[in-house]
Amino acid sequence: MSFQNPVFIPGPTNMPEAIRQACFMPTIDHRSPLFGKILHPCLSGVRKVLKSDSAHIFIFPSTGTGGWETTLTNTLNAGDKVLIARNGMFSHRWIDMCQRHGLDVQIVETRWGNGIPVDEYEAILKADTGHAIKAVLATHNETATGVKSDIAGVRRAMDAAGHPALLFVDGVSSIGSMDFRFDEWKVDVAVTGSQKGFMLPAGLAIVGFSDKARAAADSATLPRTFFDIRDMEKGYASNAYPYTPPVGLMNGLKLSLEMILDEGIDNVIARHTRIATGVRHAVDAWGLTLCANSPEVYSDSVSAIRTPEGFNATDIVARAAEKYGMAFGVGLGEVAGKVFRIGHLGSLTDAMMLSGLATAEMVMKDLGLDIKLGSGVAAAQEFYRHGS
Ligand SMILES: *Cc1c(COP(=O)(O)O)cnc(C)c1O
Repeated sequence: MSFQNPVFIPGPTNMPEAIRQACFMPTIDHRSPLFGKILHPCLSGVRKVLKSDSAHIFIFPSTGTGGWETTLTNTLNAGDKVLIARNGMFSHRWIDMCQRHGLDVQIVETRWGNGIPVDEYEAILKADTGHAIKAVLATHNETATGVKSDIAGVRRAMDAAGHPALLFVDGVSSIGSMDFRFDEWKVDVAVTGSQKGFMLPAGLAIVGFSDKARAAADSATLPRTFFDIRDMEKGYASNAYPYTPPVGLMNGLKLSLEMILDEGIDNVIARHTRIATGVRHAVDAWGLTLCANSPEVYSDSVSAIRTPEGFNATDIVARAAEKYGMAFGVGLGEVAGKVFRIGHLGSLTDAMMLSGLATAEMVMKDLGLDIKLGSGVAAAQEFYRHGS
């Protein structure tokens, strides 16, 4: 593996040098106004990236998975019913967590490669006239399959059913890179982490709670200690944490948010769409297809690319690492060996992306796939030349 090459795994993502430097800072008193100068800009910056005016933001020393746990334990009671679609490895893991917390999980089994079946959610919610379902869970971007789901559609389904359930969205691989609208979609809890769109190392679980979800924390009875948002809220009021915060990472987050907001969140989203579209042109030129089943679910942060029947897609990842020192993502779960993934989120330019596509071509040709060198690169170049 080379430390020179960018990585093309869908998280952790490439870190801009300035962000690395910001994480690497002297010790300060983490119960002081100086810490407040890091904490409060992080909270307000995250709120802006979520496109929310009023979300309650909490940042835990954890990862996205801890964000899931924060969401469930602060809002629900053992035995509560939740609705969720299983369409990839990440929704699968969230389901597993719900079950381990003693929730009653209504799973909508969904083909890997498809998005959340919004119509089915609507029918289920309409049938739930007693409002047994307490929360609707949605994985915005299934990082395993490169599939984006329609969160506005999920909200419409809930509203059409007049259903009062909370809406929880896993935005770990979409927030800060793809269109996300906390207020407009009336999201109750949004979950993300530091190592994807925010271009940082893993180590922070970042969550946004609506007023309604925040209020639920006062009556929810699932056991929680480390992830209790009420303790966090008390700490924030005096520039502190209930325990020791990872100050360097948060200083990095502060800069990451400044960079995202300076570029403009909509420009960041457009850049991801442009880079992803170039990748999709390359995939077409290679004669390959995506795991994502239709254009409206194509993810702009990761592409899972199917390889021909009988070929082990994981070999691509292994050879890229060994021969060219470049990292791509393996297939996970049901699509292990069937797809390899190109992560294209975070700190990335067209030129960096072209280097990834060029390397993927060499690897595929080395392994005997029928790939013409330069074909995918040229298709992406043509697209990038013309901008958006
Ligand atoms: C990466 C990811 C997670 C898990 O996050 P960790 O930081 O590894 O705990 C959850 N959901 C999605 C969609 C992800 O991409």
